[in-house]
Amino acid sequence: MSFCIYHFNSQEMLNIVLFGPPGAGKGTQSEKIIEKYNLLHLSTGDLFRKHLTEGTELGVLAKRYINEGMLVPDAVVIGMVEDKINENLTANGFIFDGFPRTVTQAEALDNMLNAKNLPISGMVALEVEEEELKRRIRERGKTSGRADDQEEDKINTRIKVYYDETLPVAEFYKNQGKFKGIYGIGEIDYIFEQISDAIDSFR
Ligand code: ADP
Repeated sequence: MSFCIYHFNSQEMLNIVLFGPPGAGKGTQSEKIIEKYNLLHLSTGDLFRKHLTEGTELGVLAKRYINEGMLVPDAVVIGMVEDKINENLTANGFIFDGFPRTVTQAEALDNMLNAKNLPISGMVALEVEEEELKRRIRERGKTSGRADDQEEDKINTRIKVYYDETLPVAEFYKNQGKFKGIYGIGEIDYIFEQISDAIDSFR
């Protein structure tokens, strides 16, 4: 009997990691994914920005890392995500956006979700060349008001941190047979169709 319940849960909840470098289009595509699949959006960047605006203790701690284009320490991010998951256990599923960003975070997420019999269904990775990423971030910086979108050296730091610390997370999911790469330049709707196909293949 308990086996049946376990099976049901793990089949029903759709947990997607949306992956890609800064500027790859994760925010744009996650809005469309949420709408189509009715998932709970868990964007660590958005959560941190909310803490920054509200001036919470966590926000004060995170601010210096974020504005320099560095990663917030793993323990801080993992604690914040765990709280958010625990508050939303009845959701249809989660879309993780901007998390996990290090292999340590990916391992922690697996441990958290596996303990609840709610594993990651798959990772969708948006792939965009570096020059285009920089162009998009500079463009967004004109209106986003984000300190980390505005200065060339901060943008370069974020992209370097992505290649050094975050890209290995793709290997982590490839090794579990849960990885789909999608080319992220082109029509937004065309890219979304391919993301949808990838998500449907995880179910
Ligand atoms: P981007 O637009 O670069 O993809 P996000 O909006 O996802 O960035 O995040 C902005 C900043 O918040 C990051 O540069 C980093 O400082 C911090 N941050 C967000 N998610 C994480 C994470 N999972 N681990 C560590 N730091 C994070």
